[in-house]
Parts: sequence; structure tokens; C-alpha cells
Amino acid sequence: MSKNLDMHLLLQNSRAYAEGFLSEGEVSSYIPQLAAQNPTLLAVSIISPDGAYHNTGNHEEFFSIQSISKVISLIYALMTLGEKAVFNKVGMEPSGDPFNCFIKLETAGEKPFNPFINAGAITTTSLLANNITFDELLGFTCKIFGDNVAPCETVFAEEVAAGKRNRSMAYLMQSKGVLGDDVEKYLDYYFRLCAVLVNTKHLAHMGAVLASGGKSPTNGQEIVPPRIVSIVKAIMLTCGMYDGSGEFAVSIGLPAKSGIGGGIVACGGGYGIGTFGPALDAKGNSVGGIRILRHLSEKLELNLFA
Ligand code: GLN
Repeated sequence: MSKNLDMHLLLQNSRAYAEGFLSEGEVSSYIPQLAAQNPTLLAVSIISPDGAYHNTGNHEEFFSIQSISKVISLIYALMTLGEKAVFNKVGMEPSGDPFNCFIKLETAGEKPFNPFINAGAITTTSLLANNITFDELLGFTCKIFGDNVAPCETVFAEEVAAGKRNRSMAYLMQSKGVLGDDVEKYLDYYFRLCAVLVNTKHLAHMGAVLASGGKSPTNGQEIVPPRIVSIVKAIMLTCGMYDGSGEFAVSIGLPAKSGIGGGIVACGGGYGIGTFGPALDAKGNSVGGIRILRHLSEKLELNLFA
């Protein structure tokens, strides 16, 4: 059997294994667009170190990136403003709390713990919003996904309507001097980036950029400087799966980032991987996506610690 067929079979097997667990999860329900998702959808795309692309399942299905946007805003804030300016405002420690929790803003200092909880992502987004247009941020997002992606206006409007908790933490951070004055503009950028629609191929492209130290898998051009890739992958490993990051690192051992829309981007061993499965566990991570990644990490021997 050819190498390509092997990979296709491996993806099919990973999906078949993961399908058995989907009934353990539920779709997110805080906005109608997510509540309407079909929990049985399941897809995976992979880009190999040689640039070959494979996928299986519902890989043409579009979904909102949600928290995967946090990786993009962190990368672009680091690229445009530098490490000092970013980490002056946001930490790099796991919080151990759910993604939308902001209790530590009151009990453990002013700065959000890391850029992948909502408070931290609103902070990195605010730094960007003070300096660049949303179109520039979207242009960079398209480079990361290797395609002309765009926000869904309906998801965006629903995020704005449901965003009271995010709005509260943003105003709290503004009162502490972590955020500047333009809070509604920061939230607008944050919600808009969460609403960008992609499929698993786009996520695999993003994973491949990270897996290769920042290069495009199609033309080898640098999209992200290697130093920034290494910072971001470290934070993905420790904080990328919310308060499930420790267990994910133990069982799968890869830098990854999930979104409540059902997507996960992961990278390792030169591979970029994107998964989609809107049935989520109690922490907001895709049940099927985690199972697929577990299978692939084992079979391709990607676990960083194995
Ligand atoms: N839009 C969501 C929020 O801000 C994103 C969170 C997520 O994907 N976990 O709450």
C-alpha cells in the first residue's frame, strides 16, 4: 500500500475510533448558531511534513473558530508589538480555571493569567485594536489559514448579544488599567475574530505553519518568526485546552488549541492537524477531536513526552 493510502486509512481509523465517544458530548448552547450544530459531525485534516494533505469525514463543513482565534491574536500581537509589550499585560501561566472565569483578576493580581483564557485574549486583542485595523488582523488570519476566510455576521451578532460576561471582565480590566479606554472596540475585534468560519483543512494549514517553525506548507515562506512560534506552542501545550490542558498533555502530548465551535488545531513531528466535532465535553473541548488526536498521536508517535 502506498504511503498516501496508509495515511488516508489512518485518518479513517482515527475517525471510526472517535465516533464511538461522541454521545459523551453536547454542542455548545450559549448562541443559537452553535446550538444548531449537528453533534454527529466529525472530521480531520492533516498536512504531512512533505506537504501532502489528507482528510476524512465532514472536512468541508464550516464552523466558527471561537477560541482558536486566541492563538492568532497572540501571534500577531507578539509580531507587531513585541514580547515585552504583550507579557507586560498578560501572563503565561495556566489558570486551572474554566476559559470564561475571571475570579483571579480579583484574587491573584491584575493581569490575566494567560492569553488563552477569555480575559487574556481580550487583552491581546485590545493591544492589537489600539494599533491596527480589523482588516489588517483578518489579512494575517487569512495567511495563517492559507485561504480567504471571513467572519460570519450572524455568529458575530449573536456573540455580541450573548457577551455579557466577556463585557464584564473587559470593563473590570479597564478599571484596573490592564485595558485602554476603547472597551467596546476591543470586544468588537474579539467577537469578530471568534466568528471567523473555517473547515478542518484551514486548521491543518495553521497547524502546519506552527509545526514547521512558522513557514507556509505550500510555498515555504515565513509567516511567523520561529521565536514567536516557540512561545506560542509552549503556551498551547500548557493552556490550549482550557482547564483540560494538563490531562491533554499527559494523554496526547501535543501543543493544541480548541474552540467552542468544535475545532481543534494541533501540531507535532512536522504535522499540522485540524479536527472538527461539535459535541463538547464539560470543559468545552471537542470529544471526537480529542479522541482523533489521541489515536493519531499514538500511531504517528507524535507525543512529545513518549
Ligand atoms: N466566543 C467564545 C467566548 O468568548 C469563545 C470561547 C471558546 O471558544 N471557549 O466565550
